[in-house]
Amino acid sequence: MYCKNCGEQMNDNQAICLKCGVKTCQGEGFCANCGQTVAPGAEVCLSCGVAVKKAGGDYGKYDKIVIALVCFFLGGLGIHNFMLGETKKGIVKIVLSLLCGIGSILALIDFIRILMDKYEVNPDKAF
Ligand SMILES: [Zn+2]
Ligand SMILES: [Zn+2]
Repeated sequence: MYCKNCGEQMNDNQAICLKCGVKTCQGEGFCANCGQTVAPGAEVCLSCGVAVKKAGGDYGKYDKIVIALVCFFLGGLGIHNFMLGETKKGIVKIVLSLLCGIGSILALIDFIRILMDKYEVNPDKAF
């Protein structure tokens, strides 16, 4: 794989780029799969067709603070998931909240991940 910050080739198990010192999941100037430059905001690498994986902490048009607050107060109903287009996660939280009340525990985990910039928006996942 390649450093997404500087395009340098590196080992798959490397956590930090030896050339620029940036963590492997950070930066978005280069494709991690082929090392070619990708346009800012591009969803797919034009050189190899692989989806450009977004790092955590990207909530589109919403502020991190907004998502964190919504998650904290309304997270048990999956409201923050619906705001981020993650319908599956939202529905799972509502169902779990109604059935046994653990939807809010999932929301709390989301909340911590959001604070730590570890939350990854993924509409295909249910958790
Ligand atoms: Zn680098
Ligand atoms: Zn590529």
